[in-house]
Amino acid sequence: RFITLEGGEGAGKSTQARCLATHLARRGLPVLLTREPGGAPGAEAMRRLLLGGSGLDPLAEALLVFAARRDHLVSTIRPALAAGMWVISDRFVDSTRAYQGAGQGVDGAAIDSLAAIALEGRMPDLTLVLDLPVATGMARARQRGVAADRYERLDTAFHQRIRDAFLAIAAAEPARCAVVDATPDAGAVARDIAALLDTRLP
Ligand code: C5P
Repeated sequence: RFITLEGGEGAGKSTQARCLATHLARRGLPVLLTREPGGAPGAEAMRRLLLGGSGLDPLAEALLVFAARRDHLVSTIRPALAAGMWVISDRFVDSTRAYQGAGQGVDGAAIDSLAAIALEGRMPDLTLVLDLPVATGMARARQRGVAADRYERLDTAFHQRIRDAFLAIAAAEPARCAVVDATPDAGAVARDIAALLDTRLP
């Protein structure tokens, strides 16, 4: 089973990914927790390029994100799934649709083509979209001290486009996606996700 977590800044994806991994491991299931951009040695090197302010234009950024994702898929995700593991990824293809697409204006059809080429149809079995108001997420991100994040400098409108994009993806692909209210405390969100998993991936 392949589960991805998506959402904007301060949604708590990383925390919930860890909670979910622990939840599954307690049930005796073999779990691999991974993240994007990154999740494999080559992809992590590309992450440093992506997040290091290398001045790439949005399309170059999208191409690099997909190169990293391809490496992540081939080197980490596919082997783990083939070995019968549950793979949980903190971000995946929907982040490119949201950040490079809705956020930075890369053509959605181009992103879909790149996704088809890079993923060869390997979409997640379940995508959890952690949703919360932009102002709440920004406040949480600031509190956590990620003010250095390159997106922290961008305006509320940018983050609103990201949120709207994730919600639009979830609405368009209800069989794959579930929206989770990320406003409550982490424990409550983790319980909601555990309950959701029982119904969606019994
Ligand atoms: O998951 P996390 O929020 O730590 O993501 C790290 C950074 O990568 C964030 O600033 C996010 O906005 C950015 N990102 C991106 N394009 C993607 C995925 C993540 O710009 N496709």
